[in-house]
Amino acid sequence: MKLDATDLRYVTSDEFRVLTAVEMGSKNHEIVPTILIVKISSLRNGGVNKLLGSLAKRNLVARVQNAKYDGYRLTYGGYDYLAMRAMSKRDSIYSVGNQIGVGKESDIYIVADKDSNELVLKLHRLGRISFRAIKAKRDYMGKRKSASWMYMSRLAAEKEYAFMKVLYEHKFPVPRPVDQARHCILMEFIDAYPLRQIADVPSPGALYSKLMDMIVRFARAGLIHGDFNEFNILIRRESGEPVVIDFPQMVSTSHKNAEWYFNRDVECIRRFFKRRFRYESSIYPRFRTIKAETSEDGSDDWHLDLVVCASGYDKGEQKVLEEYMDNMLREKADGGSDGEDVGEGSSVDDDDESEEEEEAEGYSEDEGGDVRDAFEGQQELDSRNE
Ligand code: ADP
Ligand code: MG
Repeated sequence: MKLDATDLRYVTSDEFRVLTAVEMGSKNHEIVPTILIVKISSLRNGGVNKLLGSLAKRNLVARVQNAKYDGYRLTYGGYDYLAMRAMSKRDSIYSVGNQIGVGKESDIYIVADKDSNELVLKLHRLGRISFRAIKAKRDYMGKRKSASWMYMSRLAAEKEYAFMKVLYEHKFPVPRPVDQARHCILMEFIDAYPLRQIADVPSPGALYSKLMDMIVRFARAGLIHGDFNEFNILIRRESGEPVVIDFPQMVSTSHKNAEWYFNRDVECIRRFFKRRFRYESSIYPRFRTIKAETSEDGSDDWHLDLVVCASGYDKGEQKVLEEYMDNMLREKADGGSDGEDVGEGSSVDDDDESEEEEEAEGYSEDEGGDVRDAFEGQQELDSRNE
């Protein structure tokens, strides 16, 4: 999706009022009835219809006519706008540049602040790919199911930001977090290549040890990354030092499946080093050993999982996201070709394979928009059938 920053400046204050009303209405309505939008925005009736029309023209809202009533829903574009407006009001971002990444569940843009410093804006897009997981999720979403993609994406951004902040403060090699609003996070731009794009390193053994040490350091601090793979490890262009990104799925070492998550992170690195650099080592960290050591030497006091919770991050609300992620994981495990391939990138080692996997998920990069439309269309259909 294109983010047009210049266009964003031309939303009038009345239009903004109406857009906000649509957002508020979508907390309880999948399709927000036009009369409700009129009521919330408290502008004159005729005026609101015209404003809605102009917002719809710019794809910030979409008109939906169903059997029961006419209404509108907020689009990704509208939600993006609201988040970016909040950040620009706080002077965190000033202009939007190129898109540098399309993840399965995010879009990544280079943006700049007032002083032209480059930053990275990550827009979370949960619910973009897996329709089945959304269906499963509906069972426990309860009343909130109507705002599912928005709600899930915001939870993911809040979680990622909270973890990035605590990790950065404790000197883990992660990007400096700058700001967060709705489903977006803003962070330091790292001049680096993902490990996945790197064919050769001067010393695979040294990098391997560094990465394993990082997994251990996480665990000793009470955390497991949960998606520690060649896509989420960036190698700085200048120094060759690794930087870790992508935290919405982080789990505590006291999670009931902690050992499984831990082993998967370790395995991802081992497998990648074996395939890419022909590097194998019999030395790798074991969860139980770390657990035993940390309780012995008292470093258990330094529980970053608890620090994150204490930082105002809402653990209760985040349960919904956790279940969603678990669901996604199970989906991947069920749908995977050999059962053990779970998690982004754990099964992919060359481009052909990765395309195949993406197609199996019903998503490929240049089709992003269509799939999103299909997803939104699906939601509408679902709501009609209720
Ligand atoms: P996803 O959750 O969709 O996997 P990531 O956070 O892993 O999103 O980011 C996707 C890609 O965007 C990364 O592989 C990397 O190439 C790029 N990227 C993300 N954050 C940064 C950053 N702070 N600096 C530079 N590149 C980044
Ligand atoms: Mg990633």
